[in-house]
Amino acid sequence: MSNKTKSKNNQELTYQVVLSYKVSHNYPLKTFLTECKDKLNISIDIIWNNIEYTKKGYPKLPKSNEFKRNLRNKLLENWNYASHYIDGVIKTAYSVLESWLSNYKRGYRTKTKPKVERLFVRVKTTLIKYDKEKGEIRITIKPRKEYLVLNIKNEWFFDKVKDLSIGEIILKENEAFLTFKDNLNYSDKEIVVGVDSNLKSLDLFHPIEGWIRVDLTELHRLKEVYDKKIDFLKSLLKKCPLRVMRKIERLFERRRNRVKDFLHKLTIQLSRLFHNAIFVFEDLNKRKMYKNKYFNRRIDRTNWNSIIQKISYKTIVILVNPAYTSTTCPICRSKMESQEGQVVCCNCSDSFNRQLVGCLNIFKRGLGKIKELMGGSGVTTTGTEVSFRKLMTSNPNVVYCVDYNGKYLIRVG
Ligand SMILES: [Zn+2]
Repeated sequence: MSNKTKSKNNQELTYQVVLSYKVSHNYPLKTFLTECKDKLNISIDIIWNNIEYTKKGYPKLPKSNEFKRNLRNKLLENWNYASHYIDGVIKTAYSVLESWLSNYKRGYRTKTKPKVERLFVRVKTTLIKYDKEKGEIRITIKPRKEYLVLNIKNEWFFDKVKDLSIGEIILKENEAFLTFKDNLNYSDKEIVVGVDSNLKSLDLFHPIEGWIRVDLTELHRLKEVYDKKIDFLKSLLKKCPLRVMRKIERLFERRRNRVKDFLHKLTIQLSRLFHNAIFVFEDLNKRKMYKNKYFNRRIDRTNWNSIIQKISYKTIVILVNPAYTSTTCPICRSKMESQEGQVVCCNCSDSFNRQLVGCLNIFKRGLGKIKELMGGSGVTTTGTEVSFRKLMTSNPNVVYCVDYNGKYLIRVG
């Protein structure tokens, strides 16, 4: 870290990272969890019965405050545990139905109501007390009557979390998933990396190493394999709807798990490789604001969001405006024109690779945003003074791919 500039507003300089750990317990929770599950299914029932259909026949979940208030009151009838659990139940019911809805729209699910069989409950932080000295976590089950106490003093991760604040807990019959919030500081980081997502690669701009590519062909391939199988089964749907639908659901589940596993490894290995970096991504939610013509690249939105989410659990992530990132000249900021995978600047008349221009522009916008956050005074991270032109190569300087069995990305080129 070359410069220790701090802004007056220190709050903006910190960033939260969530760490999660699993511990086991022998507390008898079956009755409580069964009642939670029953309430969850009742909640799903009620929301389901109030689904409205648009003119085109699309289902829409009821979301008005009045509906939610009535739902909450209804669920609180005959409820002997802390009422905050009902809020968690409602939140879960909505997320179950949102996920049904998105699969239904894509044709992966039928119009059958989802039912939850698993025994679990989300515990809001208002029900948790964390004594850092004793390493004790106390969860309220029934206010002033029943508590579950977990002691984590001897757990392997205690040293990592003893000074952090505790977040939501997921309780299951014999285990609990704990989350802790860690405040990362911008000034702990030394480098900024801009990341651009393309259909078969992530392209990174690193201020010292230049253009780095992470190959995603494997991810693309495994998705295609499943999509082909699913498409084939869809063509058989008329002959034997129920059996085929069940097969499709199973395939879809497996596809999702494979993709999840790949993205998990990708993001862990990426954050290990650049452990001292702030990652800059495009804010895709802002994409809706612009017309499609500025975004002629094909990308997979779901992967993109999940990559950002997963990396932000591990390190600092900054989102920048995505408009024109692939058509602005990184040297003189003039408009560029596409020519067979290359982009040519109308002003400097230099031509560059489009993917490189994308991640370089994202990198530069990230630097700008960090300067703003740091109070606009001084240079904050290594690399700002680097000559971009020197790093503008026609091919990636390094190519990595995900290692399924190892800890680090493998260098392949
Ligand atoms: Zn130019």
